[in-house]
Amino acid sequence: MTAKKSKTEDNIELMISDDEKYMLAALGESRKALEENEVPIGCIIVGGDSVIARGHNLTQTLNDPTAHAEMQAITAAAAYLSGKYLDRCTLYVTVEPCPMCAAALNWAQIGKIVYGCKDPKRGFSLFKPSLLHPKTEVVSGILDGECEKLMKEFFAKKRKAKTIRKKNK
Ligand SMILES: [Zn+2]
Repeated sequence: MTAKKSKTEDNIELMISDDEKYMLAALGESRKALEENEVPIGCIIVGGDSVIARGHNLTQTLNDPTAHAEMQAITAAAAYLSGKYLDRCTLYVTVEPCPMCAAALNWAQIGKIVYGCKDPKRGFSLFKPSLLHPKTEVVSGILDGECEKLMKEFFAKKRKAKTIRKKNK
């Protein structure tokens, strides 16, 4: 019985795609943001077969509205490569990038963007013509349920805290 179970687990492991594997790493970054009471968005940048940069949202911690996960990862990846173009790299990010990050990714000429859940209010895809570099490939919906769940839980908790504060006044 035990052997049978582990065989199934092996199969499950084989079924995880590279996109999902890297998105799990980006989700790990988003949990770091959550622990720091930041909006839980995380990302990684993959070059070749390795993770060359990581980032999570730090706008509160740094008092910097531009400190989005992607902005930090772009800077780190470019420093790692000693070059400003990331055309051979893939960005994995838990939530659809905003217009600011999309424009920065355009400047970096990122090869591919893989994101989890959509951001229906602030996502870059609301803007036409596209804010991205014409050569950038986009994949969406990877582990989107998990990515969205973190965001929803975070904002529900924030709203609850606000209500409690109001009641105590
Ligand atoms: Zn952004």
